[in-house]
Amino acid sequence: MVLGTYKEIVSARSTDKQIQNIAQDGGIVSALLSFALDEKIIEGAVVAGPGDDFWKPKPMVAMSSDEILAAAGTKYTFSPNVWMLKEAVRQYGLEKVGTVAIPCQTMGIRKTQSYPFGVRFLADKIKLVVGIYCMENFPFESLRTFISEKMGVSPELVEKMDIGKGKFWVYTQDDVLSIPLKETHGYEQNGCNVCLDYVAELADVSTGSVGSPDGWSTVITRTDAGDTVFKQAVEAGAIETKSIEDVKPGLGLLQKLSGDKKTKNQKTIDERKAMGLPVPF
Ligand SMILES: Cc1cc2nc3c(=O)[nH]c(=O)nc-3n(C[C@H](O)[C@H](O)[C@H](O)COP(=O)(O)OP(=O)(O)OC[C@H]3O[C@@H](n4cnc5c(N)ncnc54)[C@H](O)[C@@H]3O)c2cc1C
Ligand code: SF4
Repeated sequence: MVLGTYKEIVSARSTDKQIQNIAQDGGIVSALLSFALDEKIIEGAVVAGPGDDFWKPKPMVAMSSDEILAAAGTKYTFSPNVWMLKEAVRQYGLEKVGTVAIPCQTMGIRKTQSYPFGVRFLADKIKLVVGIYCMENFPFESLRTFISEKMGVSPELVEKMDIGKGKFWVYTQDDVLSIPLKETHGYEQNGCNVCLDYVAELADVSTGSVGSPDGWSTVITRTDAGDTVFKQAVEAGAIETKSIEDVKPGLGLLQKLSGDKKTKNQKTIDERKAMGLPVPF
């Protein structure tokens, strides 16, 4: 099961023009969390909000659609959202919490739910985990370095970053610049080389850009809770969908990239095992 356990896979986007303009891809994360807030399925959501440095995210508890929108867009470095879940319950007093998480964070969340050492008060309050696909991530200093030194752009001028079509893209007000992804190799977080999950296999709903055209997202519904809230959002008109069979490049590319990540990183795990080094599984 190269994409994990799932109920349905579709191509989708938010119907809200404001979300479409600000979001990274189809705005599925922002649309779903906002819809869940409006429907009182959650009382707040932990998202990767803007931080003190440009492009360094800071987890925040969003309690309104405006706050969710303020955190839209991908930041290609770590946002310790899982840590903030505790705050959401303890400091904000939330009984029903949603969040967005990269695959390793999704694993962390499920682990706290299965083995709630010190977080028993949190386990049953997590109601919606929207997972985002992740091939690799960058420590903040790496990101700064290759943007400013390899790409020659001041991070303060960057309005959007994206990975796609084998390149790392940076958008400023006047320019669109890119470097081949292989030039970012070596800058990625070391731990990402032993990660076997591309599509957030343990989320309620997973989403990413791969498989769908620009401005759309590929959405995988996985759990009953995730499938229900996604279908409700579609029925309410907050999200529009297309069959994944009708879009290009389609499911084949998603399956290929997920399979490639697993094969490559399993090899690294095996090599580390052979050398007696610690491995995650
Ligand atoms: C490090 C990283 C690598 C990725 N690699 C891929 C990939 O290889 N292929 C692919 O298809 N998609 C990848 N994505 C996901 C993709 O870039 C989009 O985040 C996803 O498609 C959601 O877009 P959207 O328009 O639905 O979200 P939006 O509505 O724009 O919302 C994005 C949400 O993600 C949250 N977020 C932003 N940065 C982070 C972060 N660093 N950690 C946790 N949450 C964050 C924001 O708070 C916001 O809630 C990656 C994302 C990250 C963070
Ligand atoms: S590649 Fe894996 S370990 Fe690295 S950030 Fe993405 S999900 Fe986490």
